Amino acid sequence: MAQQADTRKIRMIMGLRSQGISDINVLSAIEKIPREVFVSENFEDQAYENRALSIGLGQTISQPQIVAVMTQTLDLNDRHKVLEVGTGSGYQAVVLASLCRRLYTIERHAPLLELAEKRFEYLGVRNITAVVGDGMLGWIEQAPFERIIVTAAAKNNAPPALIEQLAVGGLLVIPIERSSGDQVLRLYRKEGDKTYAMKDIMPVRFVPLLPDVASGV
Ligand code: SAH
Repeated sequence: MAQQADTRKIRMIMGLRSQGISDINVLSAIEKIPREVFVSENFEDQAYENRALSIGLGQTISQPQIVAVMTQTLDLNDRHKVLEVGTGSGYQAVVLASLCRRLYTIERHAPLLELAEKRFEYLGVRNITAVVGDGMLGWIEQAPFERIIVTAAAKNNAPPALIEQLAVGGLLVIPIERSSGDQVLRLYRKEGDKTYAMKDIMPVRFVPLLPDVASGV
């Protein structure tokens, strides 16, 4: 079983390399983190396939390729304080936390956050601070962040609070849903207090970024 998981994992890493992931730190972080811990038992055998998987409450753990592209785009180092909006399963959070100083992550579904926190503890990851909330508002007490990542699609533009809470010189990566309905992964670079540059990276498909904390289910 463990052997099988290893083979599948190696195949996944080779796939990421052929899809243009070249950052060795990103590849080795992904290689180290057991993705099967983040999916429910009935999906365990698909944990190393390059696809998004359901994590309940209508949400998904992102496809490994997208996790890798977003992480590589953020160009992280161990001095960075990073904000993630959309904790979900916690998988992307653990990948980020292994490459930065401290990760702050926000999730609007309390039951998902609770499960994700158990996984952080199980894996012995100690540099993540997680909270239930509306990530569209950012995390003002902890701002500014050198890097921000949003793992749910915003309509038309990045939420203004997130751009505000980005440090000058910082990067924000976020899926944007355009008026046509399709989504693109967009990178913002904050150049001055009120100025930023943007670059579109690739087409993507994410669940929507929604306001407020989700009410009980
Ligand atoms: N990064 C996750 C993928 C999560 S899917 C992983 O690795 O598994 C996107 C998540 O964003 C969902 O769990 C959804 O509930 C959450 N979300 C959507 N809008 C949000 C908001 N405004 N604030 C916080 N979380 C949000």
